Amino acid sequence: MPFFSTSGVLLRKIEYGDYDLILIFLTRSKGKISVIAKNAKKSVKRFAGILEPFFLLDIVCKVGKGNFAVLLEADLINSYGKIRTDINKIAYASYWAEIISTRIEDRCQNSKLFDLLNHVLDVINSDRFIDKEISILFLMKFLLLWGTVPLLEKCCVCGISVEKIKSNKIRFEIEEGGILCSKCTKFKIKKKQLFLSKGTIKRLLWIKRSDLLKADRVCFSEVSLNESLFLLESFTGFYLGKDFKSLKFLHKIKR
Ligand SMILES: [Zn+2]
Repeated sequence: MPFFSTSGVLLRKIEYGDYDLILIFLTRSKGKISVIAKNAKKSVKRFAGILEPFFLLDIVCKVGKGNFAVLLEADLINSYGKIRTDINKIAYASYWAEIISTRIEDRCQNSKLFDLLNHVLDVINSDRFIDKEISILFLMKFLLLWGTVPLLEKCCVCGISVEKIKSNKIRFEIEEGGILCSKCTKFKIKKKQLFLSKGTIKRLLWIKRSDLLKADRVCFSEVSLNESLFLLESFTGFYLGKDFKSLKFLHKIKR
């Protein structure tokens, strides 16, 4: 088909030559796509100034002979305008966009990732800005869709369930991808180790198992927030094989 239309969130825009822009979208029906917007750099009027990161647009494209589909029309659905007024919100949205931009070409080709991104953008665009909680939700749900997710239900070596592990602080081994009971911990000592309290594991499992709206309502203590974020940020970086620039920026402004 030479033409297609879909809704998409603009993840990134890259200058291309003197006149054009390459735009990376996460779309509802086609997953992540790159399109070229001809003359968009030269003339802002060409697309009415709506080709901005995190804008949700309806787009119409033509499949050309080159590497990229050509953007013909774009209509604004939601600008998530409040994100641009707050450096924290920009930092979180940039981190999530960078994660999605990284290596998802062959996976996550369904509308659930699109819905997840719009959900978290909608939450930080509202006044109830619960930044750490919503990033935990995004990371856990992203990892589930990506197909590699922390194993928290049982020891990743012997398989004993988390409820039966007696110690209150439980080791998580990033390279093994899961928690270790105290018996297995003795045999496995590696560098990338961290500890999670049972309360943190319980909250993370609730998020892992619930739908988006239910998962949104989990209450975290400050300790659980920090343990969860550290785990999910480390896990995501390790398994996606990337140090995210946007995460470094986020940590810098949060310090
Ligand atoms: Zn074990």
